[in-house]
Amino acid sequence: DQVAVRRALLSVSDKTGLADFGRALAAAGVELISTGGTAKALRDAGLTVADVADVTGFPEMMDGRVKTLHPAVHGGLLGVRGHPEHEAAMREHGIAPIDLVVVNLYPFAQTVARGAERDEIIENIDIGGPSMVRSAAKNHASVAIVTDPADYTEIAREIAEGGTTSGTRKRLAAKAYAATAAYDAAIASWFAFADQGQMFPDMLPITMTRSETELRYGENPHQKAALYVPMGPHANGVAQAEQVQGKALSYNNLNDAEGALELISEFRGDRPTVAIIKHANPCGVSGGVDVEAAYRAALACDPVSAFGGIIASNRPLGEADARAITEIFTEVVIAPDADEAARAVFAAKKNLRLLLTGDLPDPARGGLTMKAMTGGYLLQTRDNGRIEAALKIVTKRQPTDTEHADMSFAWRVAKHVKSNAIVYARDGGTAGIGAGQMSRLDSARIAAWKARDAAETAGWPEPRTVGSAVASDAFFPFADGLIAAADAGATAIIQPGGSIRDDDVVAAADERDLAMAFTGMRHFRH
Ligand code: 5GP
Repeated sequence: DQVAVRRALLSVSDKTGLADFGRALAAAGVELISTGGTAKALRDAGLTVADVADVTGFPEMMDGRVKTLHPAVHGGLLGVRGHPEHEAAMREHGIAPIDLVVVNLYPFAQTVARGAERDEIIENIDIGGPSMVRSAAKNHASVAIVTDPADYTEIAREIAEGGTTSGTRKRLAAKAYAATAAYDAAIASWFAFADQGQMFPDMLPITMTRSETELRYGENPHQKAALYVPMGPHANGVAQAEQVQGKALSYNNLNDAEGALELISEFRGDRPTVAIIKHANPCGVSGGVDVEAAYRAALACDPVSAFGGIIASNRPLGEADARAITEIFTEVVIAPDADEAARAVFAAKKNLRLLLTGDLPDPARGGLTMKAMTGGYLLQTRDNGRIEAALKIVTKRQPTDTEHADMSFAWRVAKHVKSNAIVYARDGGTAGIGAGQMSRLDSARIAAWKARDAAETAGWPEPRTVGSAVASDAFFPFADGLIAAADAGATAIIQPGGSIRDDDVVAAADERDLAMAFTGMRHFRH
């Protein structure tokens, strides 16, 4: 099943490794054919190359839109060797077989990424390249298709040893179709998202590439797992963060770090703010005069749960921050950056994974989120909803400035807490968080109960829910949840409103002299 390589067609935009590979092919006696730029690069390397134009009898034309789209090329790629009629056709039309194709495509995604104009983006949709890739891959029984410079050395070795092997040609064909599928998916995504701002075209092919990040297992050790990254434009999320140190990230680390980054990005323009996350829910979030102060305040909210958590900061980390964070065991630290001194402190903790994101992603950005079902995927636009207008106050009492600030802080945190979410905040930090309960009343009670525990641990005279603002991610269906919050000492409430019993809930708030705002927007998160 070895196929000797006599004739190769090379047409590459990325000319990495081309000269060396060309030399290896020439040394093995392979005849080289190339398109304009590739032929020039090979000639500059001292090699003899035939022009595709001489093979097709047509010049490259229309700004390169038509170069290799010709039967002399595609017949040479697709003709089945040993097939009587195919071989007769080749003889009749003077088509010579091509045994090796080396192609990589016009840099479409890179052109988009550097913010090029629409015309230039369109011109970077490669047509002839993918056609050759697909023709050669279809005929992998006889033709080898190389789309990745990383394969040059191995292929050169096989050719020098007598020819390409069937196993290699099959592997290369699979890789080639993955490359053209991903290429077209990037084009489709650009047309849908960037060019038309349309979220759900009728058929959006979502092509994933497997990340190099190796996952040892899934949510549990008996589950297999991998990280896949969709092709096309995306913000710098956890999958794009740079891991500076520590063991490989696990499935759960990535899932939790994702929650942490989404939450902290909500505060990207704010004063130093830190979030501590466990199982994708925050244990505590707080602002402070600096990162260390913010961290200590966030930790005080629930010092017991924070152990083994994930810490996210909206500011680069310095030495004092790193020292404070490493006082207890932490799985992952995620921040825009960390200076040398901070990195040295973290380096002493082998198991701590440090992830650096650069600028935090824009919380208001669009995009899609996907959730797996058995046998399907649920797709939705990101929850990028924010309160833009002034709060609508529905009680007799207006909130004070302090209450107003705490309401807004609690609301932004609640968006990142699993439903039913209740978040108490005071002095620009969370005072108690109730997450993931089936009843809103239970979430309110649990948050207050945790705040009492935290006060006991810290030796405070009273829990920080006293004098706090409370946020609920969805409306209170009954007054009981609000009453539980008032009993815990909350003086201000922020919630979507919209329950058929809103009147009861507002009346209960007025009776207790609470200030309450309706946002008109819900933030379920499951
Ligand atoms: P070169 O640098 O050799 O002038 O061009 C190489 C690029 O041209 C490769 O990326 C290849 O995929 C692309 N290419 C080859 N044939 C055609 C064609 O017929 N039409 C278009 N649009 N691109 C082609």
